[in-house]
Amino acid sequence: MARDPRYDVLFEPVQIGPVTAKNRFYQVPHCNGMGRSYPSSMAEMRRIKAEGGWGVVTTEEVEIHPSGDHSPWMGGRLWEDRDIPVLARMCDATHQYGALAGCELNHAGVMAANRYSRDIPLAPSHTPIALPDPVQARAMDLSDIRLLRQWHRAAALRAKQAGFDIIYVYAGHQLSTISHFLSPYRNRRSDAYGGCLENRARLLREILEDTRDAVGDTCAVAIRLSVDELMGQDGISSDSDGRALVEMLAEVPDLWDVNISGWENDSATSRFKASGYQESYIHWVKSVTTKPVVGVGRYTSPDAMVSLVKGGVLDFIGAARPSIADPFLPNKINEGRVEDIRECIGCNICVSGDNTYVPIRCTQNPTMGEEWRKGWHPEQIAKATSDASVLIIGAGPSGLEAARALGQRGYAVTLADRATQLGGRLLGERRLPGLAEWGRVIEHRTWQVSQMSNVDVFLESDMTAQSVREFDADHVVLATGAKWTRDGIGRENPRGISIEDGARILTPNDIMAGQRPNGPIVIFDDDHFYMGGLMAELLRQEGCDVTFVTPSAHVSEWTYQTLEQHRIQARLMKMGVKIFLSHNLAQVGAQSVTITCGYTDAKTTITAHAALMVTMRSPRETLYQGLTKTGPPSLTRIGDCLAPGTIAAAVYAGHRYARELGEDVPDVPFRRELPKLAPVN
Ligand code: ADP
Ligand code: SF4
Repeated sequence: MARDPRYDVLFEPVQIGPVTAKNRFYQVPHCNGMGRSYPSSMAEMRRIKAEGGWGVVTTEEVEIHPSGDHSPWMGGRLWEDRDIPVLARMCDATHQYGALAGCELNHAGVMAANRYSRDIPLAPSHTPIALPDPVQARAMDLSDIRLLRQWHRAAALRAKQAGFDIIYVYAGHQLSTISHFLSPYRNRRSDAYGGCLENRARLLREILEDTRDAVGDTCAVAIRLSVDELMGQDGISSDSDGRALVEMLAEVPDLWDVNISGWENDSATSRFKASGYQESYIHWVKSVTTKPVVGVGRYTSPDAMVSLVKGGVLDFIGAARPSIADPFLPNKINEGRVEDIRECIGCNICVSGDNTYVPIRCTQNPTMGEEWRKGWHPEQIAKATSDASVLIIGAGPSGLEAARALGQRGYAVTLADRATQLGGRLLGERRLPGLAEWGRVIEHRTWQVSQMSNVDVFLESDMTAQSVREFDADHVVLATGAKWTRDGIGRENPRGISIEDGARILTPNDIMAGQRPNGPIVIFDDDHFYMGGLMAELLRQEGCDVTFVTPSAHVSEWTYQTLEQHRIQARLMKMGVKIFLSHNLAQVGAQSVTITCGYTDAKTTITAHAALMVTMRSPRETLYQGLTKTGPPSLTRIGDCLAPGTIAAAVYAGHRYARELGEDVPDVPFRRELPKLAPVN
């Protein structure tokens, strides 16, 4: 199909200093948990982005010197010439498709504990580092500043040698020493590098000029700047210092890549911020510079992109997460296949990979991070190896993805679900406060499957062992999901919780099905991801008297990995949810609940007419048990019905099943990059 002419503007070339991007799709820097540690994986992931049509593909943060060592986070490194080949591979890979390659150089200052290098961290002023490590950064003197400039210059030259077209000076996210100098929040100096904005911006200006001097003949010099740190007068804000700074340096870089900081604000989840949430902070940037401007905001709609360009807000549509969820987003727009775009749902599972120091993963795109090690391409898949038929029972994330990917391979697929709609757990979860965008997981797959003549879908089909046998498919896949349990068994209480007769126990499934407490309720969150906090938010919103109890020291602790923890806890506190941290549930009675302090064992009794258990989920296994003895020859469980997990894990499981059907899979089912031994001495 041909491109809709309304989107032509998105495919115009744009000049950035001495280089030209072929279109306006700009994959801004993003972490991926692979970087220097899994370089082939990183390079292949970036190559796929270029293949998918992005005009610019950039690195994640690339460290310039051991004194800014961000270990164990797996960014890039250009400490010395020996680091060049890893990034050269990325450049070669992206250049194959005519994309420009960008390199985000960084010195992390107080954001790095230097756990690997053991150097002393550097900062504008003496200060403990921003991580909880018992490490203090020392104030940089003028010779340190000279050294930092030299390191940056040397790294820029290495980046040029690696083949990069755009070299970044990074002043974003409160993650770089340059941004620490800029912000009054961290800079307490009284010399020429502290005090007024001009002084605080001196290092930034010098490094921009150094970089241009070093590589500006052939490379564009970009700045990544957070124009607002969202701390009011304590930091940079877009209506005062942020704007003054852009005005001051308007024509110095070749490109302005602007956003807000910290990372949790820049990469806000859809639960808290809608697409386009940064526009109000950055809309004025283009009016004060003639240089091209790139901005982000989880843009997935080509109409929104066009209006940003035509409205004079942006020259480039920046994307990290939309490019992760769909590396082929630009090509799909170009080919008139907008409805095929796999839109990001704003869940930040991608961030959790980097935050836990493992390769990136994505809820919507199960191939993300698997491009090299498993050879998974986001758009292509091996043809079926036989004309076998596959019956999938359960149309949640795992069953739907298995049906879609098997259908793409050409298998004859039947997807059956007892429900009246496709979607499984997401039918309920997408209606929880803030999770509407998560419905895209279903919508995308429902649409794809509807286009495949070899995939039949049957709703309101309650499958039994007998009906499965009668169906006589060659392969049966159970994707029957899981249900929240009510006995309290979980992490903290592997043997359950004492529940008196007459006590009312609810689960998230009950709440999503419309049940409500008829008095005060205690929510016990032993799960630590989003569900407990969402139950509290929903019930409190409806006026319930809610007490939230968790053995963790933080509300929804695992949401640190998705950059949401602070927002969730703040929201519950502001809504008036009573919170007990580091407490376990001891006993549930008809009119009260007893909890114990995790440190002192002190007991507290709370009046409650119900307890809501967010403890664990139990796989729906009845069908499996009925089939195991005399079932079909090929019977496989995937997703939550095998072991309950994230939606991302369920989608991955469905995809993996589809990829592996009929293929030989080795015991270690992916390629690895083993360390290359250096000489002993
Ligand atoms: P997952 O996250 O693993 O995809 P879900 O819980 O989202 O799992 O989806 C499971 C789906 O399986 C639900 O839509 C449920 O209605 C369906 N299901 C469970 N048991 C049966 C059955 N015996 N027959 C048909 N559908 C079933
Ligand atoms: Fe978007 Fe979630 Fe994928 Fe990240 S993991 S790119 S937020 S869908």
